[in-house]
Amino acid sequence: MAKDYYATLGVNKSATQDEIKSAFRKLAHTHHPDKGGKEEKFKEINEAYQALGDADKRKQYDQFGSAAFDGSGGGNPFAGGQGGFQGFDPSMFGDLGSMFGDMFGGGGGGGRQKGQDLAVQVTLTFKEAVFGVEKEITLNKSFNCERCGGVGAEPATSLKKCSTCNGQGHVIGQQRTVFGTIQTRNVCATCHGRGELPEKPCTACAGKGVQHGKKSVRVEIPAGVDNGMQIRVRGQGEVLGAAGEPGDLYLQVRVQSDARFVREGDNIYVTRLVGFTQAALGCEVEVDTVDGKVSMKIPAGTQSGEELRLRGKGVPHGRGRGDEIVTIQVVTPRKLDKEQRKLLEELALNEK
Ligand SMILES: [Zn+2]
Ligand SMILES: [Zn+2]
Repeated sequence: MAKDYYATLGVNKSATQDEIKSAFRKLAHTHHPDKGGKEEKFKEINEAYQALGDADKRKQYDQFGSAAFDGSGGGNPFAGGQGGFQGFDPSMFGDLGSMFGDMFGGGGGGGRQKGQDLAVQVTLTFKEAVFGVEKEITLNKSFNCERCGGVGAEPATSLKKCSTCNGQGHVIGQQRTVFGTIQTRNVCATCHGRGELPEKPCTACAGKGVQHGKKSVRVEIPAGVDNGMQIRVRGQGEVLGAAGEPGDLYLQVRVQSDARFVREGDNIYVTRLVGFTQAALGCEVEVDTVDGKVSMKIPAGTQSGEELRLRGKGVPHGRGRGDEIVTIQVVTPRKLDKEQRKLLEELALNEK
């Protein structure tokens, strides 16, 4: 569902970066969980600021809406760095990722752990970004052991109940805090929350269920992505075998420039040179588009700098596509042969 980050921060669409920053500061102070604020609300504010606090990301948001971002907050390896937490007291904000991890149990709730997220840059051609593309990316990462499928047991052997936690997956402990002693529930260190252990550990992974090395991952890049955007690929981060969920993979998109096209949002701009007689008399010319060359009518009397629009030849968005805008540049000849000169001189006689 689309989220209105401007409304979340209580600022106008035209707010300056400074106004956004100051609105975020105020709200973050008010809703900080340490001060009795709600975790959800604080996360929302943080998510909104990650999108709007950075001028580039804000542009993406204005264009694509919140779908360009995701609410993973702390789990996002790019967050924080460029997200704009510079200048804040780190002891107050700390690393939001680890803070939420500690405070709210890593999002897993019942003690399921999550593997680390990975980040990798993908470079796309101009057209790949416009139309989307499927890419195969080779990563150096952990993956589920191929011999045991991540279970950690030798094939055809069974699992036995973990004796440390008596099959519960967690152990109860006590922690002293300023509010007194509280009971804590910790993930069992022996079985990592599974409650069971392999009878015979897998010989390929020593029972961990995890192997490391090069792994190819096929990823689908949607149409319309732009430079600097991030795409989350669920479950393609580091794995924990049977001890937890895999992390996510973040693709950071780089788009190569194309000498013919300039993109602004969903529209694509090109420049087409035409001769001055062509412009004066009108003509039909071929124009480059991302779909290939198309024929375009130049009306008689077209001026240099005039913009003509090719509808639906821009970047796909939702159900439609943006336009291609063709700027006509009228070229005056530098050299004339005898005949041309004579014709133009005749023409010039009529020009007052
Ligand atoms: Zn194995
Ligand atoms: Zn256990």
